[in-house]
Amino acid sequence: MSGPGTTSGIRGVLLDVEGVLLRGTTPLPSAADAVTGLRRLGLGVRFLTDTTSQTSARIAASLIHAGIDVDGGELFTAAAATSAYLQEHHPDARCLLLNDGGSEELVGMRMADPDDSTADVVVVGGGGPSFSWKQLNVALNCLLGGAALVAMHGAPIWHTGDGYCLDGGSYARMLEEASGVTAVVTGKPAPNMFLAAASSIGEPCGRLLMVGDDVVNDVLAAQDLGMVGVQVRTGKFRPTDLQRADRRPDHIVDSIADLPELASALAEPRAAARRDPPQGSFGPGGRPGDRVTYGGRIRRTTPKGGAWIDARCSRRWARGRQGSPLLR
Ligand SMILES: [Mg+2]
Repeated sequence: MSGPGTTSGIRGVLLDVEGVLLRGTTPLPSAADAVTGLRRLGLGVRFLTDTTSQTSARIAASLIHAGIDVDGGELFTAAAATSAYLQEHHPDARCLLLNDGGSEELVGMRMADPDDSTADVVVVGGGGPSFSWKQLNVALNCLLGGAALVAMHGAPIWHTGDGYCLDGGSYARMLEEASGVTAVVTGKPAPNMFLAAASSIGEPCGRLLMVGDDVVNDVLAAQDLGMVGVQVRTGKFRPTDLQRADRRPDHIVDSIADLPELASALAEPRAAARRDPPQGSFGPGGRPGDRVTYGGRIRRTTPKGGAWIDARCSRRWARGRQGSPLLR
């Protein structure tokens, strides 16, 4: 692994799914072990995906099948972000959907017929066979007639077992160019999903790693928000991506297998300590009201709350020990 970043104090990790943990529904090597390793570090873990060809339930099922435990509150999808955006900004609109997948995730939205060139909003999801010249022209006529343009994500390509494919971001930019209508991007690289995931962990962006295979839409987008970016050399990654980018990722690892080691090095001491929590209650000489430093913070033990501190400090409780920096 490599990287110029020396950031420490990490408390959570946001993981892109496609190309980092899975290829389609197939797990990448060591993905399950890596996620287990991150959780053992005491880090909050969230999953962010721009995959729109599958429902959230299907994506979660693929992760679980791969041996990666995930509950619904840990998974953030571009489709869900798009649904929230449409409900807020276009609640009564008829949407023309271009997507290599269904519309199940766009909850409560009215879908226009595929040949309806009078829709109110054109929604561009993941690229696929349905993106025909005919279908794109229907979308173009909607836009020229005044429709809004919403891109579920900005990724220009993705990688399958059959090679690289054009993705929704490329089509959205083409429609922008042809129509003069600027797209609103709801998934990555827009801040929405990153910030929602950060909020769910309850940590500021500067305490989070974002791990992805897309230099621009995963890694640099997260770095723009103050997160620590980690590039994996799997999925859609190509070495030329780094040459084309205007900045460098904070860290680069070969694969998800290398992430626990990097995260451990960057983790906040308190989080790292959870790997092997000290046992016991009060250390030798510890008393309620003593001031201790733990995890870089000065804490005061109390009759009610002292046990929490004392249990974790018992190995290094300083009273009576020469030279310990812990008790002041
Ligand atoms: Mg990806």
